[in-house]
Amino acid sequence: MRISSMFEEGRTVFSFEIFPPKRTASIETIYNTLDQLDGLHPDFISVTYGAGGNIDKHSTLEIATIIKNRYVIEPLMHLTCLNSSKADIDEIMVAAKSCGVENILALRGDKVPDVAPKDDFHYASDLAAYLYKQGDFDLSGACYPEGHMDSPDLGADIIHLRTKVEAGCSHLISQLFFDNEIFYSFLHRVRQAGIYVPIEAGIMPITNKKQIEKMVTLCGASLPIKFTKMMQRYEDHPEALMDAGIAYAIDQIVDLAAEGVDGIHLYTMNNPLVARRISDSVNSLLRVRKNIM
Ligand code: FAD
Repeated sequence: MRISSMFEEGRTVFSFEIFPPKRTASIETIYNTLDQLDGLHPDFISVTYGAGGNIDKHSTLEIATIIKNRYVIEPLMHLTCLNSSKADIDEIMVAAKSCGVENILALRGDKVPDVAPKDDFHYASDLAAYLYKQGDFDLSGACYPEGHMDSPDLGADIIHLRTKVEAGCSHLISQLFFDNEIFYSFLHRVRQAGIYVPIEAGIMPITNKKQIEKMVTLCGASLPIKFTKMMQRYEDHPEALMDAGIAYAIDQIVDLAAEGVDGIHLYTMNNPLVARRISDSVNSLLRVRKNIM
């Protein structure tokens, strides 16, 4: 099923993101995560590609195929292009097609130190245009409510986002954010810029101290006072920090659903326990048909 068609049903789409196990771990370890996520009935599950130092890129397609065939859940395969040639992408496209994977998140990817990027693709929009021409995939793209780190400002980033949508991305997933007002203001600017495709809000529950330090350094998300107070108060109390992080994410989702956002994309960090607690708390809200924004 094409992910873009899920938004036509009028409810809030709810999706999960997972990452492949580290190279040193068996791919089988992902079954444990998926067995538990399966019972939560997400609309789709996305699988990262080459992110976080994982360089076994074939595992992304392998896991996407498992999600489709064994769990009968729609997978969204992430695919980056900066370090790929057209021949590399062609090879992956053929493999994805033969595995029945029809949804791809077209990404540029980050520059890797000491690795010279290849010349065929410079931006995610180049990859989206290339994949779109083949006509076999439903394409998604990433967006950044606070602007992408390489961008001089949000306005320039939104102009490039429009190019990505014009290149064929029919659905967008946002970078994580902790302040819903930033997301609403971004949505307003994006719609004014003539981008009308569905946009899922990316929510990451912060449930341990290491995670917050890593995430904020990597993506530069603003932290509302309410959030930093919570972190400071509970940072040395792991159980309390987990409860607080889950409660914060639920609070964000309740507000987003009430505002009628197109979808919620939960960065699960392969933690099904956290995903379950959040999912159980918001499931009934997400099924209510939304007013079109
Ligand atoms: P682009 O859309 O190409 O944008 C990158 C920068 O270039 C932006 O600043 C943009 O404004 C600018 N730009 C775009 N087009 C032009 C143009 N024509 N001229 C000038 N400037 C331009 N990384 C991974 O390695 N693996 C993953 O699986 C992964 N999954 C992700 C999932 C989501 C939902 C998100 C939000 C990010 C993900 N990332 C992943 C991280 C992503 O690869 C990085 O943020 C990367 O730096 C940018 O990728 P992009 O596709 O957004 O790039």
